[in-house]
Amino acid sequence: MKIVIIGAGAMGSLYGAKLSAVTDTPVCLLDVWQDQVKEINARGLTVEDVSSPEPRVYRNLRAFQDPAGIGPADLVIIFVKSTLTAQAVRTGRAVFGENTPALTLQNGLGNIEGIAETLPRTSIIAGTTAQGATLLGPGRIRHAGKGKTVIGELDGSISPRLKAAADLFNRAGLETEISANVEGLIWDKLLVNVGINALTAVTRLRNGGLLAHEELAELLAAAVTEGVRVAGAKGIKLNVPDPVAHTREVCAATGENQSSMLQDILKGRPTEIDMINGAILREGAAWGIAAPVNGVLTKLVKFFEKTGAGERGPA
Ligand code: NAD
Repeated sequence: MKIVIIGAGAMGSLYGAKLSAVTDTPVCLLDVWQDQVKEINARGLTVEDVSSPEPRVYRNLRAFQDPAGIGPADLVIIFVKSTLTAQAVRTGRAVFGENTPALTLQNGLGNIEGIAETLPRTSIIAGTTAQGATLLGPGRIRHAGKGKTVIGELDGSISPRLKAAADLFNRAGLETEISANVEGLIWDKLLVNVGINALTAVTRLRNGGLLAHEELAELLAAAVTEGVRVAGAKGIKLNVPDPVAHTREVCAATGENQSSMLQDILKGRPTEIDMINGAILREGAAWGIAAPVNGVLTKLVKFFEKTGAGERGPA
């Protein structure tokens, strides 16, 4: 099975490395980052794991900057930041054959729509992942946290291609389940990100810090509640019965983590704010639902994106 991953950063490298251990054909990684491509081709991909003393080097991988060198795949996984999905699929078009499924496990809203600008919706499989990875440098990542991957067809069917992808992931040690409600899944995860990411980015606190301050816990609840209202208006069936309580639980369970949005701000990189809190604001406006807390958080994060971490010291 020929697997291509578009976006070989932290998560693309993690999935690429794990999958490369169970495929005969090398996993192909497509990225615009030249040093990453060179390093992976020269020395393989090194994965540090919190639970093992020695890093493991994966070599059954080939990295590319040009999709024409890869050709059509049997499965493409998209792992660029969600703001770049549409562009990356457009420029990576050559890796999609007539029947190639495109799987998105990215965070935020709009990835499906971004892929659908280039490919038919029927080619898209979506899902969420509770795996975590950190990029340490070219050719090197840390597998920072393990958790379930859940995938589903947009029409809720349990198709052979979905089962094949889930089987493959499970064989690779990436625990994976199938869901008939992928839209609900995406929103479940979105609401957690809505509650945690922007607030940690603005306050420079680790996830657990949000629960230590009453004011912030209230803002978390308000941001998530606005999202729940928007989800309700759109007819999304959430799988999580109480998204505010669930977000608080995630905050507590990942108390020592720096959210990806905080990491992006501290490193002066663009964030996914437009696809997270900004998406609640946009979707809310379309349905006549006000989302003022998400509006303020979006503007604050955009301000920090512009001014960088230098305006305030790191946490
Ligand atoms: P990352 O920034 O580490 O990696 C993204 C990669 O995409 C980079 O290497 C970048 O060079 C590459 N890229 C950019 N434009 C491209 C293009 N046009 N074509 C090909 N490659 C391109 O990001 P990440 O942390 O791996 O996150 C990817 C997605 O997964 C995000 O939506 C994120 O929210 C989600 N996610 C991340 C984690 C995590 O622990 N890191 C966990 C769950 C979900």
